[in-house]
Amino acid sequence: MNIRIGNGYDIHQLAPGRALILGGVEIPHEVGLLGHSDADALTHAIMDAMLGALALGDIGHYFPPSDPQWKGADSLLLLAEVNQLILSKGWQIGNIDATVIAERPKLKPHLTKMRETLAKTLNIAGDRISIKATTNEKLDAVGQEKGIAAYTVALLMRVEG
Ligand code: MG
Repeated sequence: MNIRIGNGYDIHQLAPGRALILGGVEIPHEVGLLGHSDADALTHAIMDAMLGALALGDIGHYFPPSDPQWKGADSLLLLAEVNQLILSKGWQIGNIDATVIAERPKLKPHLTKMRETLAKTLNIAGDRISIKATTNEKLDAVGQEKGIAAYTVALLMRVEG
């Protein structure tokens, strides 16, 4: 089989005194995402989709929150490591499609930078990664601005040759 698909999901709480980082981009907001690493829920969901496509487990296995070395970690560095892992197994990214759910702030002005940042980290063309933003229409915890969630699918292709 020359293609594999994986899905990823992540959610982090919003809290005062934290930076809001999504797709490796710091977004101005009065609260940020709470977590052991930089809590970049979008990047985490992408990593889980890539790992899931190859049945390689999840990011908690590779970067356990119990390990102090990942405290405050830049999730882009973790993403680059996951990319190296899939490349080492003979696979590359076909495309990624992601949806970020946030009531506030408006993410649309930041989507291009997020795509560029992720594409650069993954060493892929920008048109292989799609990031969409939506709200939860004020419903549930995300809609009440208690957190931000992300869903992702990743298609991997076997490297030719
Ligand atoms: Mg996470």
